[in-house]
Amino acid sequence: MTDFNNESVAAIETTLNDVDRVLERLRVGNYRSCQVCQAPIDEAELITTPLLANCPAHPELA
Ligand SMILES: [Zn+2]
Repeated sequence: MTDFNNESVAAIETTLNDVDRVLERLRVGNYRSCQVCQAPIDEAELITTPLLANCPAHPELA
């Protein structure tokens, strides 16, 4: 097994930080709300894209 390079580690850390944020949103109960406009996000979208944070009007993942 080869070692990850620093860029790979940074990318993995970014994804895991996103997961942490999503888990926090699940815990406080705003997981289904767009992080920009608070519109409800479609449940089917969240099942296929669990890290989705925004409604279709605000498609950026963060
Ligand atoms: Zn929105």
